[in-house]
Amino acid sequence: MTTNVTAYAAPAAKAPLERTTIPRRAVGEHDVLIEIKYAGICHSDIHQARDEWGGATFPMVPGHEIAGIVAEVGSGVTKYAVGDRVGVGCMVDSCRECDNCRAGQEQYCTGGGMIGTYNATGRDGEPTYGGYSTHIVVDEAYVLRIPEGVALDAAAPLLCAGITVYSPLRHWNAGPGKKVAVVGMGGLGHMAVKIAHALGAEVTVLSQSLRKKDDGLKLGADHFHATSDPATFQELAGSFDLIVNTVSANLDVDAFLGLLKLDGAMVNVGAPENPSSFNVFSLLTARRTLAGSMIGGIRETQEMLDFCAEHGLGAEIELIGADQINEAYERVLASDVRYRFVIDIASLRD
Ligand SMILES: [Zn+2]
Ligand SMILES: [Zn+2]
Repeated sequence: MTTNVTAYAAPAAKAPLERTTIPRRAVGEHDVLIEIKYAGICHSDIHQARDEWGGATFPMVPGHEIAGIVAEVGSGVTKYAVGDRVGVGCMVDSCRECDNCRAGQEQYCTGGGMIGTYNATGRDGEPTYGGYSTHIVVDEAYVLRIPEGVALDAAAPLLCAGITVYSPLRHWNAGPGKKVAVVGMGGLGHMAVKIAHALGAEVTVLSQSLRKKDDGLKLGADHFHATSDPATFQELAGSFDLIVNTVSANLDVDAFLGLLKLDGAMVNVGAPENPSSFNVFSLLTARRTLAGSMIGGIRETQEMLDFCAEHGLGAEIELIGADQINEAYERVLASDVRYRFVIDIASLRD
């Protein structure tokens, strides 16, 4: 039997989000019912609620940075018990059988693709609805444990922003002796600074202006440069092992590739709307790599949460009520947030 729960939904593309109710499936054998406490607002929530990537289905309940408490478990659940602190990120299922799923890289599932936490179709054929709601039912295999050591509200953004930067930092071996540049210091970028610093890398922020310099240095950056200043690109030429580009606007790719040393890699985690181009000479003159990376698998997401808790890392957040979601969207688009909006789901329970 499905249960109706309170949620905030976009009724149609570009329409303001409004309070409504949505169905949640009955708790199955391997399911966990989560009482959601906090949900982060990711830039991709806005893209999808406004159907900017195409193919969106409505009504849409966004939210894939979910933190809460287990309220009920199915009879076959072994990993979680009522009262546990848990999270859900960008996916709630995948085929579980392809090579990538078996390797714990479910986000790259080739057996039909990962099933998104919202704006997707679940295994039961019903639309999936995200975290801007009071409860969610998820198979335990796609639920994460949030360790003590990180507050639930600051943990919520780790489920997308945190893993999106942790995965490439680990894959490209950010650590002691490595020089890492983070392009952009928003929701993703500020977590990249914290995590790269905790991994032991020397961290440089490349931001449009020096407006966030004090924050950047406080969060763990060793250096902070403005990309609006052409001198930055001369001064830092050939100096980084890794550049994590969190910006979703189109950049001068050649200029950034020029900042990499021999065998350096530039990894894109933001998704610009338009294609970008670059000169292949920018790669071959120093055996450089231009790459992309998308969130992380379930195993690695748990590793990230454990790492963040161990190092006392959470997101810098601005807590809002559900009735401020539409206003928050406008502020995200204006880059007017330091550094992540998190919805206090208690505001939906009144
Ligand atoms: Zn996201
Ligand atoms: Zn798969």
